Amino acid sequence: MLVGVLALQGDVTEHRAALAELGVESRPVRRPEDLSGLDGVVLPGGESTTVSLLLGSSGLAEPLGKELERGLPAFGTCAGMILLASSVSDGRPDQRCYGAVDLAVRRNGYGRQLASFECDLEVPALGSEPVHAVFIRAPLVEGAGDGVEVLATVPAAASSPGQTSDPTPVLCRQGPVLVSAFHPELTDDRRLHRYFVSTIEERGR
Ligand code: GLN
Repeated sequence: MLVGVLALQGDVTEHRAALAELGVESRPVRRPEDLSGLDGVVLPGGESTTVSLLLGSSGLAEPLGKELERGLPAFGTCAGMILLASSVSDGRPDQRCYGAVDLAVRRNGYGRQLASFECDLEVPALGSEPVHAVFIRAPLVEGAGDGVEVLATVPAAASSPGQTSDPTPVLCRQGPVLVSAFHPELTDDRRLHRYFVSTIEERGR
């Protein structure tokens, strides 16, 4: 199995290390030819506006979009979630989003006080042990389409203090596309990367 890690900016080394710990070979993706022969791709956290610009200048924007359309399994974390979403608020007007997962997200949507926070998440798909999640200027999921499976949420109070509304999705899956608003590559827990690898394996069967 060969997994590409979009290497234009952001947590590239950490994602590659996480995959290596699982015995999965990875390749940094910087140019269109780096996409060939991949079984999956990781879109790391960073700054989605910057990555969006670099996708354009590297010539990767369209070839990556085609691969996603063809169903290449993808795992987007934080800024990567923004790039895979179907709509983005508070971004650059020309900011790219691929619509690989039917989510409406707001950049830096947790507000100033909660710009960065950590919490323990219940993720039944990964077992009973909670997942410790690190959020850094995370995107806020404001809407999820019917085809989206929500794997974990935070209480609404965490995202919109003082308001009572539905819990906010922070980990979602739609077919071969997995997205997290937090940074699983920054903790030692490899269950989420393993889950992504298993979605690739499922697809190969
Ligand atoms: N706020 C960043 C963005 O808009 C995402 C932050 C991150 O990836 N940690 O792209």
